[in-house]
Amino acid sequence: MVALGELVKSVRRHHPNADSDLISRAYEYAEWAHRDQKRKSGDPYFVHPASVAGILADLRLDPASVCAGLLHDVVEDTSATFEELADEFGLEIADLVDGVTKLTKVNFNSREDRQAESFRKMVMAMAKDLRVLLVKLCDRLDNMRSLEHMKTESQERIARETMEIYAPLANRLGMHKLKSELEDLSLKYLEPDQYQHITKKLSASRRERERYIDGVAKSLKARLAEMGFAAEVSGGARHITSIYRKMQEHHCRFEQVFDITSFTVRVESEADCYATLGVVHSRWTPIPGRFKDYIALTKPNRYQSLHTAVVGPGQRRLEIRIRTNEMNRVAEVGVAAHWYTDETADRSGALKPEDAARFKWLKELATFQNDLKDPAEFFESVKIDLFPDEVYAFTPKGDVKVLPRGASVLDFAYSIHSEVGDRCSGGRANGQPVPPRYKIRSGDLLEITTAKNVKPSKDWVDFCVTSRAKNHVRSYLRSQHRMKSVNLGRELFETEMRAAGLSYGKFFKNPDQVSTLIKSNGSETLDDLLLGIGYGKVQPEELIKILNSSGGGDDAVPASIRTGPLEKIVDRVTGRDHTGIRVNGADDTLVRYARCCNALAGDPIIGFITRGRGVTVHRRDCAKAFNSDPERRVDVSWGANAKGARPVSLKIVTQNTPGILATVGRAFSAQKINLTEAICKANEDGTAQNEFTFTCNDLAQLKTVMRALVKVKGVVAVERT
Ligand code: MN
Repeated sequence: MVALGELVKSVRRHHPNADSDLISRAYEYAEWAHRDQKRKSGDPYFVHPASVAGILADLRLDPASVCAGLLHDVVEDTSATFEELADEFGLEIADLVDGVTKLTKVNFNSREDRQAESFRKMVMAMAKDLRVLLVKLCDRLDNMRSLEHMKTESQERIARETMEIYAPLANRLGMHKLKSELEDLSLKYLEPDQYQHITKKLSASRRERERYIDGVAKSLKARLAEMGFAAEVSGGARHITSIYRKMQEHHCRFEQVFDITSFTVRVESEADCYATLGVVHSRWTPIPGRFKDYIALTKPNRYQSLHTAVVGPGQRRLEIRIRTNEMNRVAEVGVAAHWYTDETADRSGALKPEDAARFKWLKELATFQNDLKDPAEFFESVKIDLFPDEVYAFTPKGDVKVLPRGASVLDFAYSIHSEVGDRCSGGRANGQPVPPRYKIRSGDLLEITTAKNVKPSKDWVDFCVTSRAKNHVRSYLRSQHRMKSVNLGRELFETEMRAAGLSYGKFFKNPDQVSTLIKSNGSETLDDLLLGIGYGKVQPEELIKILNSSGGGDDAVPASIRTGPLEKIVDRVTGRDHTGIRVNGADDTLVRYARCCNALAGDPIIGFITRGRGVTVHRRDCAKAFNSDPERRVDVSWGANAKGARPVSLKIVTQNTPGILATVGRAFSAQKINLTEAICKANEDGTAQNEFTFTCNDLAQLKTVMRALVKVKGVVAVERT
């Protein structure tokens, strides 16, 4: 067991000002809390947290992390509570323990392999404080080291989880030593035969390898010394899992894995790294394509080195990494190096400027801790996660969906299935009902609710951030719009045919006529043709000309599609008139009212086809309509029940007497009209010019209002603008 004295010494080696009293209190508290528990091996349970703390101290982590390592299992396994820890050791340590406890509760077992990456991200996102993750990784390392005492089935499960979740996390954090050990310990249980095989081969070849390494190291060091560089050269075998992977990848035997040995050259400066590379390459032939410059292109986890591979003595391939001592430290412990670097200054604010730039999220971590208001808020980890652009949510089945930050319930619904998206009426986040626009937070458990009558609408595009969802909504809207345009085209064509004494019904039943028309303008289907008419790209008159000429020379209308006398009667009885398309007021989707004249139901009107936007309706006397392209003109008429609230403006000239505005206003309200705007100006001749705007349902109502206004005493003239 790691003794208290050793632990304090180990922490103080890198953190000379560490509070040894705090460490010893944490040590004794945990030892006491776990006093009645035993490990599977029969050892006292406290051996485990003490070892975890020891590993953390070796990683040079700060005293708070080491204390959290000592206490990491007390909340989960003993009667101790978060509040007690906060009282006893402060909020920082209590929060760290709390974070580790919560990570421990996440169950990765039932997950499929393909979700491993999502879970790694989830773990990252959940760890508010990166140190939580480091404590958890050390906890896992110690558990792996004592895995032999577990039952066989638990061994495999834990080893798989380590291989799939924790080792890659350690790798991402740049903690290569930790990662390698986690991998090798996992492999031992996942592929026991292969593991033993490689271990045996490695130990059988050890003496020879060591001799070889020694020879290469000496000769390289001597060469570098000649050139004036002080360098340390060390070599060793790849770790077992990496050899195993090479064997799998290349389907080869141990003996055929050629670059088992690798060398690390440590020099004093960055410039020396490149100079050393030159020396290495001039001495041994470099293998093309194997040089990588991670000094110029620092890895996101801060790793820096020059990598190369050469053909060394005895034609053996060697992997060589060249780095400074500082880079070497980072290469070994990754992000953990950060806490050590900063020890000389106050930890909360202290990052070297170059570190701050490179490691912005670590800086955020420091500030985040200072204003941490609600430590119990489990998933509010967004500020420091390593994937600031993503959120993670669970489906009811426990699958994880990775979505871009800002994603809504709709994005989530469309990520399940386009039909789920199209009918999404909202959902439940952690049991609480939420609207479709609700923005997902990491860790939400989301259930989607659907309803048959729900349809995607225009504003949905704004609620979605994923292109998948946006595209689905847009294509749905497009298809809706297309359908409406086809219908409009059919209606226009039908009207035009009727006016020419032709029957659309008969035309439609005559495949020859139909295909003649389709071909005549290069369309592929009848719908395309009708769409063209609906969009105003195709003139129905032109089509009728073609029909006429195809009917057997001259301008004879083909008898086959001529309207019969019976149909004419039917038209009259059913009220189908020949004056054009019917406008039914406000709810016509492809009808727009031109704002220049604001036609009211009952006004004489005229329509113009606007490309892709249906029919624009003007008043027949509108000057703008008069100037519009006659080619696009189409006859329109009001439907029988056409009504719709439309804005109308009246110009009213009154005498400028006191109280006149109030009198006019009363006249409006007597007609149950609410004014939306009133502009009043006094003229020099003792009259006033007023403009009133209000909404009106149809021409009949407007006329009633105007008649009432004319009767008001003091009103000189009333005019529609
Ligand atoms: Mn533990």
